[in-house]
Amino acid sequence: MPYAANEREKQMLQWYINSFTSGNMEDHKQSQRYWIKDMIPTIEMNMGWIEHYTDPTNQRAIWNGWVAIVNKKRTENFTKLVHKSDKIIPLLPWDKNIEKSKFLAPDFTSLDMLVYAGEGLPSGINIPNYQDMKENEGFKNLVIEDDKKPIDIQKFYLLDHLASNKTSDNIQEVQRVAETLQTAGHELFGHGTGRAIFKDEKTGKRPMSFVDPMSGESYTSCYSKGEKYNDKWGEISTSYEECKADVAGMYLLNFKDMWSDFGIEMHQINKNADSTDLLQA
Ligand SMILES: [Zn+2]
Repeated sequence: MPYAANEREKQMLQWYINSFTSGNMEDHKQSQRYWIKDMIPTIEMNMGWIEHYTDPTNQRAIWNGWVAIVNKKRTENFTKLVHKSDKIIPLLPWDKNIEKSKFLAPDFTSLDMLVYAGEGLPSGINIPNYQDMKENEGFKNLVIEDDKKPIDIQKFYLLDHLASNKTSDNIQEVQRVAETLQTAGHELFGHGTGRAIFKDEKTGKRPMSFVDPMSGESYTSCYSKGEKYNDKWGEISTSYEECKADVAGMYLLNFKDMWSDFGIEMHQINKNADSTDLLQA
């Protein structure tokens, strides 16, 4: 605490101490309230039992504790993306009523990780995972970019393997930024959009009707008071949420607003690419 940069960080640390001595989850939530408000700090950190990817019942989370330096130069581009969210979110192919009336523009920073204790270094983080906080109070997006970090080989191997030399050069040229932007789309617009729709408490009816973007049919159900996403979707809730985030990220990469601030120009995308390669891939 003597080294905290401001009063918010001191409060955050005090609530961490309270939570880890008492085991009270509300105290941990309180620490996260101060953490969300600590926008673009120089030193970023977070800890707790955060992600429950590895528990099939989605109950037990794995300990994560990390400290990073915010890379202010790289963060500028992500801040531009956040400012364009009112243009980008409507591109998502679902009913606009499913979106929050006001997108809680998050802090979106690029990190150089100093130390990470946990199950494995992710390429992006979108927390807190408390759904009620995420919807009503906000969240932060963090992208971990490290030039020394190997590129996710699996994602690009098939594409590169099937491509001609010309296209392969093109893939090599844009793959790092493509991977970064996929992570950005996943965290910011995949996890960060949408809301739970609740029945009207008095009438017991859905407050509005929605059309399924795939089938064109009307939705028939929605949440009752007190129900939570994780409880309703059970053991598939985490994987389903991750699928939503990944698909949203990939879908949005088709739009220029996503990549135009990241040093990619249209001519670069079309320059060498042989479209038959890409179709085949
Ligand atoms: Zn995710």
